[in-house]
Amino acid sequence: MMTIGRNRSKGLSALLLAFAMFVMPLAALGQTRIEMPRNKYTVAQDVQLGREAAQQVYQQMPILRDSTVDSYVESVGQRLAAAIPPEYQHPEFRYSFDVVDARDINAFALPGGPMFVNRGMIEAADVEGEMAGVMAHEMSHVALRHATAQQTKVSSPKNTIIGLGAILGGAILGGQAGAQAGQIFAQGYFTRYSREYEKQADILGAQIMARAGYDPRNLAEMFRKIEQQSGGGSGGPEWLSSHPNPGNRYQYIMQEAAMLRVEPGTGNESAQFRQIQSRLRGYPRARTMEEIARAGQRYPNQGGQNPNDNNYPNDNGGVYARGERVAYPSTRYATQQNNLFSVAIPANWRALGGDQTSVSYAPEGAYGSQGITHGVMFSVAQSNYSDLQRASQEVVQGLTQSNNYLRQAGGFQRATVDGRAALATTLAGRSPITGQNERVTIVTTTLGNGQVFYMAAVSPQNEYSTYQRAFNDILRSLQLNSRY
Ligand SMILES: [Zn+2]
Repeated sequence: MMTIGRNRSKGLSALLLAFAMFVMPLAALGQTRIEMPRNKYTVAQDVQLGREAAQQVYQQMPILRDSTVDSYVESVGQRLAAAIPPEYQHPEFRYSFDVVDARDINAFALPGGPMFVNRGMIEAADVEGEMAGVMAHEMSHVALRHATAQQTKVSSPKNTIIGLGAILGGAILGGQAGAQAGQIFAQGYFTRYSREYEKQADILGAQIMARAGYDPRNLAEMFRKIEQQSGGGSGGPEWLSSHPNPGNRYQYIMQEAAMLRVEPGTGNESAQFRQIQSRLRGYPRARTMEEIARAGQRYPNQGGQNPNDNNYPNDNGGVYARGERVAYPSTRYATQQNNLFSVAIPANWRALGGDQTSVSYAPEGAYGSQGITHGVMFSVAQSNYSDLQRASQEVVQGLTQSNNYLRQAGGFQRATVDGRAALATTLAGRSPITGQNERVTIVTTTLGNGQVFYMAAVSPQNEYSTYQRAFNDILRSLQLNSRY
């Protein structure tokens, strides 16, 4: 056992300190004390980051709007939030709770407090405490500011901004579900936490549960359940392979639980929980995250080698305006970020999750099962050429193959993307969706790793003048991650 004072020797390795869990007995109880990891970001940055990411979640994930279920989950969540030990409370944080209408056993929380709980997780739990356990674990990641702490470890000053966009989340499950959720956000918004952070979240989660009047052993039970599901071959989450298990998770949560005094609960947990479960089971079958992600894939993958890549999946809600006017691009912009770039997008356009290599932004009425009619798409393609001109030609070839109504109109012109040499060209043709002539501007730049990054700006020819300014603004705002 060792005592860790607030003033540490500067000579010690900051990293080691940041990730170690310090164990020391408290006077009355033997509960484990958790050291806040080192963090170079401000609490306000956590809040800001989480707020922006939550907006994307609302846009891209099906949120279950059922006031009975909502207020129930909210009440459990607030009960847990009130039980966070004072040393891990941040007055700036606002814990909020939404239910995602997805089938997978999953939950995730964003910096500063927004939490999303899958319907599948609530249905899979046997008792309220198991659901509360997963929520307490997620809440602990937030309270310990793990998202920005993890970024503190990996970021250099140059990639700070883009890095922040890439670190959001912390899905409790990785694997298929986590990866699919990542696809919804274009590029890996959901990073996995280190084993040390997982263990911290388990321990603090158990402590929060006990303080809130839940049996912390329920957390261990829930994890065991998730683990068993993944081994069951029933398409469950790949818990073991992809979610860092700190090792003997079940045992150490049980050990911690044995040291904790559980406060009295409300007494009506189980009746309420069963009511909510049966209410949820009355809804139609929820889609899996994978199905949601697939439905969100609204533009063909440029790669094209796999014929399936060019199938437009069924869309879940996009309806083309067809003849009616699509709203003009807002002059207000919202910053959108992912692993690869950040960009300012008109505030009335929504992100349309692509696959790992592309993402589109379009206004209502301009997207659907056959792609977008107005808006922009960003994509990365593997190229056979490092030469910008040839790589750009290759991109154009790929696009005119997968959108065979388009032809290149004119040659390439010099352009810049975030200060890098780029080429721009125009494609044109009669859109099978609108029946109108469509104009697509393609801007390409090489990433130096055999890949080409490109932006495709799409609008009907006769509306191009309305969109040109937005397209220019978007292009000028584009910042590529310095890694590339
Ligand atoms: Zn976790």
